[in-house]
Amino acid sequence: MSERQTVQFSRIVGQEKAKRIVGKAILNRRVPHAYLFTGIAGVGKTSLGIAIAASLNCRERKGAEACGECSSCRQIMNGHFPELFVIRPEGDVIKIDQIREAQDSMRFAPMAGGHRVIILDQADTMTEEAANAFLKTLEEPPNSNLLILNAVEPANLLPTIVSRCQKVRFAPLAVETIAGYLVNEMGIRRETATVLARLAEGSLGKAIAMAEGDFLERREKWLKRAMEIPSMTATEALEIALELSGEKSTSAAQGSKYEIGGLLDLLGVLAIWYRDLLLLKKEGAETLVVNADLMEELKKFVRKFKLLQLYESLLVLDQAQRDIRMRRNKALVLEKTMLRLRELATRMDTS
Ligand SMILES: [Zn+2]
Repeated sequence: MSERQTVQFSRIVGQEKAKRIVGKAILNRRVPHAYLFTGIAGVGKTSLGIAIAASLNCRERKGAEACGECSSCRQIMNGHFPELFVIRPEGDVIKIDQIREAQDSMRFAPMAGGHRVIILDQADTMTEEAANAFLKTLEEPPNSNLLILNAVEPANLLPTIVSRCQKVRFAPLAVETIAGYLVNEMGIRRETATVLARLAEGSLGKAIAMAEGDFLERREKWLKRAMEIPSMTATEALEIALELSGEKSTSAAQGSKYEIGGLLDLLGVLAIWYRDLLLLKKEGAETLVVNADLMEELKKFVRKFKLLQLYESLLVLDQAQRDIRMRRNKALVLEKTMLRLRELATRMDTS
């Protein structure tokens, strides 16, 4: 990625509590040997790790904040700092060879009184071998080396690893925080930004990936289809199933670790449409509606459904997502799903 890394805590979106904990440790010279950062993907764990590396190595640090201008800061911004290692899964896992390579680099003290920082992104993907090898380093951490492990849940790691790290929890980001970033930093319209922020479920990384890819166009297309469901024939429902099964299972936005816009996301879009309808039907808070840009359509559609039809439609979509995850026959799953959704939408005698 050619994008410049953020080296200052203040430039990381949200996560005030995590920044405070880490900043205090730096100021008091009490940085532990190892941190475990937990939280969903895309909330700033790696970014904070990189900012720590910058702070520890900055030549003109102000408080805990890196200057962003000295040679160390600039090397980190450009991804060329020799004492910063970010280890990511190769394929689906972090392999023992990757851990060994990091261990090799730790055999020597870092250059010129600096600090070496090793970030294990998605540390919970370490193979058993890799985790056991890594444990040895955690048991006898060399001086001036900081290990940072990122994971969604501590429960996904060996308890012996978790117990040797200082844990810092990263909360999902607020809708407003994500939307603000999309508007101010990416120039996205407020209304669209709010929809993306709600769909991103607290992950800025996911919101950015959705904003950069063709997700919005696909969302629009499939919501249009969802609106046709109550008036379509069985044959039309099957045609739509066929079209939907032609959607790629995943579609990675270039250079992003988030795979957005695949079949599961599209089924998710349909499920959220029904969830919104259900919310309006139950006269829930309008502010919780995700598809806020389609409020008029939602209000028109909600009159076409009874509560039970909406519940059952949601269950159908939930089952479809589970079936696709379990790699059941895509075409069959979608045919069944579309026919059932049509049946539910046209069955007006439900009370
Ligand atoms: Zn600096």
